[in-house]
Amino acid sequence: MTTIEAKPALEIPAFQNERVKDFRDPSDVASMRAALDAMKKELGRHYPLVIAGRKIETEKKIRSLNPADPNEIVGITSAASKAQANEAIEAAAKAFESWRQLTLAERAAYLFKTAQLLRERRFQYDALLVHEVGKSWSEADGDIAEAIDFLEFYAREALRYAAPQPVVPLEGERNELVYVPLGVGAIIPPWNFAGAIMAGLTSAAIVCGNAVVLKPSSDAAVIAAWFVDLLHEVGVPPGVVNFIPGSGSEIGDAIVTHPDIRFVSFTGSKEVGLRINELAAKPQPGQKWIKRVVAEMGGKDSIVVAADANVDAAVEGVAVSAFGFQGQKCSACSRAIVDQSIYDEFVDKLRRRVSTISVGDPRDPAVFMGPVVNEGALRSILGYIETGKTEGRLIAGGNRAGDRGYFIEPTVIADVDPNARIAQEEIFGPVLAVIKARDFEDALKIANNTEFGLTGSLYTTDEKKIERARDEFFVGNLYFNRKSTGAMVGVHPFGGFNMSGTDSKAGGRDYLLLFMQAKSISRKV
Ligand code: NAP
Repeated sequence: MTTIEAKPALEIPAFQNERVKDFRDPSDVASMRAALDAMKKELGRHYPLVIAGRKIETEKKIRSLNPADPNEIVGITSAASKAQANEAIEAAAKAFESWRQLTLAERAAYLFKTAQLLRERRFQYDALLVHEVGKSWSEADGDIAEAIDFLEFYAREALRYAAPQPVVPLEGERNELVYVPLGVGAIIPPWNFAGAIMAGLTSAAIVCGNAVVLKPSSDAAVIAAWFVDLLHEVGVPPGVVNFIPGSGSEIGDAIVTHPDIRFVSFTGSKEVGLRINELAAKPQPGQKWIKRVVAEMGGKDSIVVAADANVDAAVEGVAVSAFGFQGQKCSACSRAIVDQSIYDEFVDKLRRRVSTISVGDPRDPAVFMGPVVNEGALRSILGYIETGKTEGRLIAGGNRAGDRGYFIEPTVIADVDPNARIAQEEIFGPVLAVIKARDFEDALKIANNTEFGLTGSLYTTDEKKIERARDEFFVGNLYFNRKSTGAMVGVHPFGGFNMSGTDSKAGGRDYLLLFMQAKSISRKV
């Protein structure tokens, strides 16, 4: 095992977000082109399971396809069986015994080193995301910048929790409170922030002293394989992070119900999150604890545009929030709720703005919208568009674009009833419903009428409306006069209310507590 020296806390500068590249700098453009070119040599590579540091090829494979050109195989990962998932959990349980004994500062040092290597290889990772999930250049870079942020932020958070925690002094006793890890965790990320969420969930769990099994999304297993390699390269000991790709429906239940699993850290859809929560709640023979489930789930996010809003700014915010990364962000705006007094002006300007959005292969830097992630998503989104055509007035898009990749036109459907299916169900694609509100009161009521509560935004120039929305707009991440996407680590701790999840606030000061338990130690003196 490579040893890494823990940096003394004093040497560590305050956390700063990594700047996301806008690719206006010609040297960034040249580096990105070179990285995209170099990806050609990586295509089709095989990635094994990693259990206790051992690389294991299996017969069953997961093929990661480029959604812009599904004939192109980005990589082929081995798929774990249930028996191999069990083996990985046992390996984690074994590794936990020594990993938990390192100090928080020692474990934080691994995260700092990983962040540094990721920074050095940033364009390679950006290029992989362009290929594996169809991100545009800047969306890919934003994803990797956020992964670096999570590593840097959670490392500093670990140091904060390592410091003596305040307890009330009592004469005759010496008292302290320390944080200890939970045990073995299952890390189950989605594909949409394939770098950031996967790295964030994994690093938060291990820096606290837990050992994990990482079951990546089947649509984004290659980037997870790269990241696990990176962790091993900086010396994270074998068994602390075990890599077990596999279809969630085939091995997910076996992982979640394993008696040695102490916690599940999941981000994904409501349906899968609720299933995990239910299965994890039932104790298994031999299980000694109540499993902790951190589940961040779907959204149906609204932008409210009040009568007094700057309409041009609102149109821009809605367009970017609805169609950035093809609407495949949990924070994407899928409902614009617009005051009737400015409704026609808003719809007209939005239609014109959306007509300027370019759709195509994201290897081309001029492209704003790439493909949706896979064929299943394509079919499901096109199905919702057909439903939407009967539930409102199509004013933009409405079709598949091209016939090879999974491209869909940015689609806007106006005059939608607040209870229509496309106004209630998470579509997770480039489809926006525009809803007319009688007044602000009505708009707020509509904004709160779904089962979700993830992000929301209000465009207004009226302080009183801002005050009311602060109190009544029931979402975990509320924004004023800006887009509903683009939460930054440390700046906008992220997590939703209601069926959007457990509100864990990733990238916030409470997050690491979810992966530790506090031990109070008292000594008579
Ligand atoms: P998903 O279908 O729920 O999958 C998420 C993860 O769960 C994947 O790794 C998947 O593996 C796995 N999985 C599937 N079935 C499972 C089972 N029975 N047991 C255990 N694991 C299982 O979601 P997705 O399509 O990847 O991601 C999109 C969803 O994530 C959207 O709903 C979006 O809103 C949500 N999301 C939420 C946040 C947030 O912070 N609230 C952030 C990002 C995304 P397979 O790929 O092998 O099926």
